[in-house]
Amino acid sequence: DEEHLNPEEREFEKALRPLSFGDFTGQQKTVDNIQVFVLAAKKRSEPLDHVLLHGPPGLGKTTLSHIIANELGSSLKVTSGPVLDKPGDLAGLLTNLEEGDVLFIDEIHRLNAVVEEYLYSAMEDFRIDIMLDSGPNARSVQISLSPFTLIGATTRSGLLTSPLRARFGINARLEYYDAELLKKILKRSAAILNTPMEEDAAYEIARRSRGTPRIANTLLRRTRDFAEIKGDGTITKAIAEIALNALDVDQHGLDEMDNRILTTIIDKFKGGPVGLGTIATAVGEEADTIEEVYEPFLIKEGYLKRTARGRQATELAYKHLGNVPPAQLGS
Ligand code: ADP
Repeated sequence: DEEHLNPEEREFEKALRPLSFGDFTGQQKTVDNIQVFVLAAKKRSEPLDHVLLHGPPGLGKTTLSHIIANELGSSLKVTSGPVLDKPGDLAGLLTNLEEGDVLFIDEIHRLNAVVEEYLYSAMEDFRIDIMLDSGPNARSVQISLSPFTLIGATTRSGLLTSPLRARFGINARLEYYDAELLKKILKRSAAILNTPMEEDAAYEIARRSRGTPRIANTLLRRTRDFAEIKGDGTITKAIAEIALNALDVDQHGLDEMDNRILTTIIDKFKGGPVGLGTIATAVGEEADTIEEVYEPFLIKEGYLKRTARGRQATELAYKHLGNVPPAQLGS
């Protein structure tokens, strides 16, 4: 999802990106495990097993990949599924890797089938077979690669083929962050930006950041603008509230699609239960995306329930949208 960022945002992200495990807040169990695997690989002087990181955008998949490479003392080469169009693109990248390098493929679920096929032997045996010529002259040459680590990141693990998934020895899912963790991340970011921020202001931004560090950092940056123009530069709770309301940030950190999904279930389907496919059609989004990107947050926060007959809006969802829950209407 980095490709959607403008250059200024990218600079900002780079400045705030943690560089070591110690700087990376939250995801404790995942980080603890990966740290052990990294240390063990270093001790054996072997490349780290291939790593699959999945979870919604902005939770730290790219950040964690940079950290893994740093801690391995290796360099990281970055690419993404849609960019690796032809097998030749992949072959070029792979043959340039040095021993122990880390290759990061973002949006790995978007690799095309032919390129993915090449990746199998690269991951398994550190070699690729390239076809030269076609027709009667066709022959394949084998190229051996330096042992490397592939880190694949995806927001849509459900779209990964099973042969690809099976080739990752380490598989970790990143979860949404609670407000306390986001507050810690925001305080670290504010310190890097030299922006004074009051404790309750940090909490206010944190709880309205949809459980996502990237959103928290973006809101911090915008709030800092308000503090400089409308205040004395310090982010106070009052300034944070003015900024967040001016930016139309939902009271509970839900984004536009979250709200559209809830509104649709309540207004068009009497609160559910309604099937995922039906919701998807009604809101104009892919069912997989709803299931893997939006739903987990709505369920975690208690707005949505998954039942055997479909998705159901909770009382909290009704209240959030300013509606009276059906139970209280006596239906
Ligand atoms: P993803 O690759 O999952 O979309 P990124 O790794 O690009 O997410 O994270 C987005 C931004 O959020 C990063 O620039 C980083 O500053 C911040 N960030 C993400 N996770 C953390 C974390 N655990 N601690 C501190 N900052 C984080």
